[in-house]
Amino acid sequence: METISNPQELQNLCLMLRSEGKKISLVPTMGYFHEGHLSLMDAARKQCDVLIVSLFVNPTQFGENEDLEAYPHDLGRDSLLAEEHGVDILFTPVRDDMYFDDHGTWVEVPDLASNLCGQSRPIHFRGVATVVTKLFMTAQPHVALFGQKDWQQLAIIKRIVRDLNIPVDVQGHEIVREESGLAMSSRNVYLTEEEKSVAPNIQKGLQKMRAQVAAGESDVAKLKSDLIEFYAETVPMGKIDYIEIVHPDNINILKSVGDSALCAVALQLGNARLIDNLLIKV
Ligand code: AMP
Repeated sequence: METISNPQELQNLCLMLRSEGKKISLVPTMGYFHEGHLSLMDAARKQCDVLIVSLFVNPTQFGENEDLEAYPHDLGRDSLLAEEHGVDILFTPVRDDMYFDDHGTWVEVPDLASNLCGQSRPIHFRGVATVVTKLFMTAQPHVALFGQKDWQQLAIIKRIVRDLNIPVDVQGHEIVREESGLAMSSRNVYLTEEEKSVAPNIQKGLQKMRAQVAAGESDVAKLKSDLIEFYAETVPMGKIDYIEIVHPDNINILKSVGDSALCAVALQLGNARLIDNLLIKV
């Protein structure tokens, strides 16, 4: 495995690899790998000649009072894991490699970025959209893999690729969970034992909602209030940031569950802001 931190060097290499007919896959990450990241690497490995994983804690997607400085990192461990999972190139730029002091070009998708996480993290998706576009331009991937845990992010990236004619196949992969049902996240290390013991109820509540929908309930207000009640009982120290039922493709908030609906939640539990989602109607 080769580690590259200079974007120009990576781009030159990738342009050469493409001209040789090599198929490139990219898995963008912020590091501190868990099974969710590793499953994306494994899925990518199976469908390419060259597997690139980027590891960059992108400052432009963090708001002022968020955890940019505290974000967990362990490059040594991540390098070993990447190598074990067949990664060819680990791309590890630092901030100054990725952004000029006077960086002023942004990619924005306001239609999809205004609700859910965009409400409480107003600059988040502008940062994500911009860095992912930069990664696409740099690594020139044929395929890029993302997790469905960040459903809104995935919808935004698919829209960018469509709207800007970027020649990359964007794939969304299933959420990898702890045995308890808690969605894996680098931020789970912030949880205390007590918080970790109640956090699986986030997913349990979503499954309960899906069962209600299967039993015929379609009123979003009722479904939401039942879930709020469930979390109040089972995750009492959690502070709900949002619970929304949206259309999975355009992220529009629904009043009634139609043919296709996703419930997405964000909850602050101690120092961790946890997100999860479930398709409650397919
Ligand atoms: P992050 O390092 O948190 O930015 O995540 C990098 C990629 O891994 C993103 O595409 C995430 O959606 C994905 N990812 C994070 N957690 C999980 C998970 N539990 N299951 C599947 N994919 C995940």
